[in-house]
Amino acid sequence: MIVQNYSTVKETIAKTANEVGRKPESINLVAVSKTHTADKISQLLDAGHRVFGENKVQESVEKWPALKEKYQGVELHLIGGLQTNKVSEVVALFDVIETVDRPKLARKLADEMEKTGKRPDCYIQINTGLEEQKSGIDPTKADDFIKECIDGLNLPIKGLMCIPPYDEEPSPHFALLKKIADRNGIKILSMGMSGDYELAIEQGATHIRVGSSIFGARNYS
Ligand SMILES: *Cc1c(COP(=O)(O)O)cnc(C)c1O
Repeated sequence: MIVQNYSTVKETIAKTANEVGRKPESINLVAVSKTHTADKISQLLDAGHRVFGENKVQESVEKWPALKEKYQGVELHLIGGLQTNKVSEVVALFDVIETVDRPKLARKLADEMEKTGKRPDCYIQINTGLEEQKSGIDPTKADDFIKECIDGLNLPIKGLMCIPPYDEEPSPHFALLKKIADRNGIKILSMGMSGDYELAIEQGATHIRVGSSIFGARNYS
């Protein structure tokens, strides 16, 4: 089932990319495996997929070291909020940190990278909907924050990510993220989930984060 769902998503990505004149290979699928067991994740790894997203540090530390040992070439993305006291664990385990969202965290990451020499790619999360309860940088402050991270802190900032408000049309949010990225010379755009990844591809997503369309509904109990 999981592998079949995965194939369907891959086909939809290719079809959508072709429709908007983009190369299917230019769109990276981050399979969001939060709440799902190592057994289920292994089905995708056995099928050859290597790029995964998790949102909780503790859960990732329990699941991923063994999987990374068994399967070569895994690229693990942190897509959930990061507390500063978890920075060492995250820099050690993750290959991409998509949720750099505040100056204090950026400084901690820079210190840890300096100390360990390990430099996972970082994306900056932008709060495109200016939602109070959502983390991310205010779009009007994004240019300054990006410059501070790259020039001031020497962080490997490679991309931007956003999560549009649930009750709004996502396309304008995706377009805003692309605009901010373009004017700052940033190439990677992580945007689009199960419900809206086709729209995100139309708007230039390079990375889409898809969970339930691959693994099925999540059970949080
Ligand atoms: C859970 C999650 C996803 C995946 O959501 P689906 O709707 O299951 O595809 C994508 N991005 C983030 C940040 C998430 O937390």
